[in-house]
Amino acid sequence: MSELNLILLGPPGAGKGTQAERLVEDFDLPYYATGDILRAAVAEGTELGRKAKEYMDRGDLVPDEVIVGVIGERIDSPEALDGFLLDGFPRTLGQAEALEDALRPLGRRLTAVLSIEVGDEDVVRRLSGRRVNPKTGRVYHVEFDPPKVEGHDDIDGTKLVQRDDDREETIKHRLEVFHDQTEPLVEHYEAKGLLRRFDGSRSPDEVHAHIRATLATLRLEEQL
Ligand code: AMP
Repeated sequence: MSELNLILLGPPGAGKGTQAERLVEDFDLPYYATGDILRAAVAEGTELGRKAKEYMDRGDLVPDEVIVGVIGERIDSPEALDGFLLDGFPRTLGQAEALEDALRPLGRRLTAVLSIEVGDEDVVRRLSGRRVNPKTGRVYHVEFDPPKVEGHDDIDGTKLVQRDDDREETIKHRLEVFHDQTEPLVEHYEAKGLLRRFDGSRSPDEVHAHIRATLATLRLEEQL
């Protein structure tokens, strides 16, 4: 099997996490979501968590130098030899360059950047209704994917919570940050011929089918 080094790109609430769960199953790739890594660090009270918390609470990005090392370590780990799936990284041009600098000495390069596109209004509706099981990370939505018992996880009954940064004012700020700092990556990767676009307003199943078909085609092309 050829390497599959993938990035999921898109605004908060585009459904990157949902697609990632499926792709991890399809392709057996290690999945690195910087948001999850940082939230775990905050919960554990590590040095990384202490550095990141104030930025996260405001909906700002943590500084590049705080996050770049975290990902560098992981892509250079034995489990990531056949590929990886990044979610929430890179989020700035500086991070994209740092990633390229980390891959180059390993003789590796990105396979594709999967850009999931949704409008701002959809993002606000999706994120403000999002509820999470704080123990397992499982995600629900009060309107689109409600739990069987309101406010509780279907499987272990844990009380669901709203992420602090999923409140409406913070969502709007996160969107601004996305447009300012992360959206330029679309052009960056397009110029490199790596960008693949997906309509994130479609159902999760449709987006997934489209991504799978795209990756299958990429693999065929590689073999030619
Ligand atoms: P997410 O779960 O991907 O929406 O990330 C939640 C928060 O973690 C973001 O709003 C940022 O504060 C921080 N974060 C996650 N990934 C990055 C990154 N690559 N660069 C900077 N900050 C990040």
